[in-house]
Amino acid sequence: MNGDLVGVRDAIAQRATSAREVIDGYLARIDAANGVLNAYHEVFAEEARAAADSVDAAISRGDRLGPLAGVPIAVKDNIATKLGTTTCSSRILENYRSPFDATVIERLAAADAIVVGKTNLDEFAMGSSCERCAWGPVRNPWDPSRVPGGSSGGSAAAVAANLCAAALGSDTGGSIRQPAALCGVVGFKPTYGRVSRYGLVAFGSSLDQIGPICHSVRDAALLYEVMAGDDPRDSTCAARAVEPVSATLDETPRTFRVGIPHQYRKGNSPAVDTALERAALLLQKAGATIVDVDLPMTDLGISTYYVIAPAEASSNLARFDGIRYGHRSTAHGSQDLFDLYANSRAEGFGAEVQRRIMLGTYVLSAGYYDAYYRRALQIRRLIKQEFDTVLAQCDVILGPTSPTAAFPIGGVTDPLAMYMCDVYTVNTNIAGICGISLQAGLDHSADRPLPVGMQLQAQAFNEPMLFKIARALERASGPLDAAPPSLTTVA
Ligand code: GLN
Repeated sequence: MNGDLVGVRDAIAQRATSAREVIDGYLARIDAANGVLNAYHEVFAEEARAAADSVDAAISRGDRLGPLAGVPIAVKDNIATKLGTTTCSSRILENYRSPFDATVIERLAAADAIVVGKTNLDEFAMGSSCERCAWGPVRNPWDPSRVPGGSSGGSAAAVAANLCAAALGSDTGGSIRQPAALCGVVGFKPTYGRVSRYGLVAFGSSLDQIGPICHSVRDAALLYEVMAGDDPRDSTCAARAVEPVSATLDETPRTFRVGIPHQYRKGNSPAVDTALERAALLLQKAGATIVDVDLPMTDLGISTYYVIAPAEASSNLARFDGIRYGHRSTAHGSQDLFDLYANSRAEGFGAEVQRRIMLGTYVLSAGYYDAYYRRALQIRRLIKQEFDTVLAQCDVILGPTSPTAAFPIGGVTDPLAMYMCDVYTVNTNIAGICGISLQAGLDHSADRPLPVGMQLQAQAFNEPMLFKIARALERASGPLDAAPPSLTTVA
């Protein structure tokens, strides 16, 4: 059992092992590795054992159980859980306990999955490296001197190191797909509106989606199916029925078209370029016609994103003021209301979050709104149209998830350089379409082999096609000749 969700689920259901044995194994591995990796902020050991015992009891009674019975799932710490805290890896929410579960957590519970703990992120999901986590940096299981990517780096590292069977992340501009790529696992961002955001601490409300980080495309399909679908508590959730994706996963279309934008071929590391050519070749062998497509606005994605996302963040994060929510300053001068707000927010938010709030406030302010925010919305519309045109010419778009493999911790200090990590992922969110990243190669240029991820993007609500082609690529790609070091090396 390599720890994949389907393998774990089937082993429990067929009584080859018990849910309790499974959870004990995960908890032991977390004990051994989390000190180094810092993937989890909080682990619900006792509650997870109790939940596993009740799954085992239900199995021996012969009860009908949900599709993820006994499967240990890690949850990014910006998704509300009644259990434990929901900190967003920020000091401002250090002790925050949610009085409710996010819709996705309720759906996991209804599927009889077990939430094993909360994983670290870049504070409020703003970042691409998990270095900006108030509880210390997360490390990449392939090489602990390197970043796992971000912002769902704790979830991706936990999956890669086999510290959970699968995990939940959130993706506003790449935060599921980029860490999945850097950790050699599968990360899927659903179409905007496909998965409820109720209980996801809002960052960029028009961009945010929750999605799965998993060992395989099949696992991601299953976890997505459990979570997806309308929710009266999220008005942006799509009412349309969720088409099944796992049942049709292996039905590769006899012919299909894969577009590669030439804009996706420049500025990548050599290993990423090699992996892209290899993926194109493998898909061709699986029946694809590869077509050159044009996405001239690719480069405008980052500037558009860094107007829209901070604008929405500055509004969403206004609620963390030390009164309604969050850390309250006791510093001198905090008796005055405005100083209390200012001191609480200055003490509670890290530098990057403060930068985003200032950026967002600026682009929304009278006098600059038209020049920045309104203009960004116009460009957003054009980017969406560009994807509509290209996705009328091909079924999916193939390209790298990130221009490079994982970089060393401390290796990228310039904020703009960090923003550029997401050049291939932000437009998926800007256009509201769906995207998946899977491992498609290795970079051997550093001391240790590092995974390289490829991304496939498809039109909004075309998840069934996206998953079929991702599965075809995964199958054609086969097992890659390296894996993260064993826990004994990590620990
Ligand atoms: N890295 C991007 C940012 O810093 C995207 C983050 C995300 O998707 N949550 O905003």
